[in-house]
Amino acid sequence: MNTILINNIEEIKKNIKEWKQENTKIGLVPTMGALHKGHASLIETAKKTCDKVVVSVFVNPIQFGPNEDFDKYPRTIENDLELCKKLGVDIVFAPTPKEMYGENTKLSNTELTFVCPPYNLVDCLCGKARPGHFDGVATVVLKLFNIVKPDYAFFGQKDAQQLFILKKMVKDLNIDLTIVPCPIVRETDGLALSSRNTYLSKEERENALTISKALKEIEKLYNSGTVDTNILFDAGFSILNHNIDLEYLEFRDFETFEKIHTARKNTLVAIAAKSGKTRLIDNIILG
Ligand code: AMP
Repeated sequence: MNTILINNIEEIKKNIKEWKQENTKIGLVPTMGALHKGHASLIETAKKTCDKVVVSVFVNPIQFGPNEDFDKYPRTIENDLELCKKLGVDIVFAPTPKEMYGENTKLSNTELTFVCPPYNLVDCLCGKARPGHFDGVATVVLKLFNIVKPDYAFFGQKDAQQLFILKKMVKDLNIDLTIVPCPIVRETDGLALSSRNTYLSKEERENALTISKALKEIEKLYNSGTVDTNILFDAGFSILNHNIDLEYLEFRDFETFEKIHTARKNTLVAIAAKSGKTRLIDNIILG
């Protein structure tokens, strides 16, 4: 299987044009690289649904705040390419920031066109701690959609708010593709896979395990009949290791994204917390 690495927008567009002439079903898996089994599961799902699969690898500067980890974010393109080859990916699209954003140096909305998702969806959960983050995500994803013109795009439920916002963008802007949500992949001990897990020391990783344990506890209580989100919150919070710095633990309707006080089917229980300096997110959807 030949996997082609392309860094250039015009070049990938040529490939896409040829595929389109042959009525090929194209799948896109957008990533920031440092690929792990979570990304692999998205790629495998894409392979099952589509004739051709493009994986983008791009650490997108415009979705990082000034004090965030853009510079130290792991970049492992050789390994990523190897994994993509094994999984039968057709094209790995890995542009540079200059290729994506041209000569613009400020990379802000004073000189670039941005996509702004609805305020209510960005001014909560991760968006509260990361102002501008989802504008950056929506902007780069729309650019990738315009470049790759996929029929299907695959996103992990691990980034539940991102998934919700991108579905809304596709609907609101009449983008002609289907977003396919993919379940969270975890280590056997429950830790949700993330490229940022590589930042964790042994002890920080141990402490971080209590994040998924807290979610499990909430799910267990809910399954045995507790629906008051205050009680569920307290039960989850009590499981968190005292060195875990909780940013939020919230209950939202996964259909509307409204905050809810009585848990029910399709309730998103979302958590963000720091273990050491590393910010981690995780969630479950109650059944
Ligand atoms: P990232 O490279 O972190 O931007 O993630 C790229 C895509 O992979 C996003 O759609 C994520 O939601 C998804 N993803 C990341 N981690 C996981 C995981 N543990 N399980 C499933 N999908 C994931």
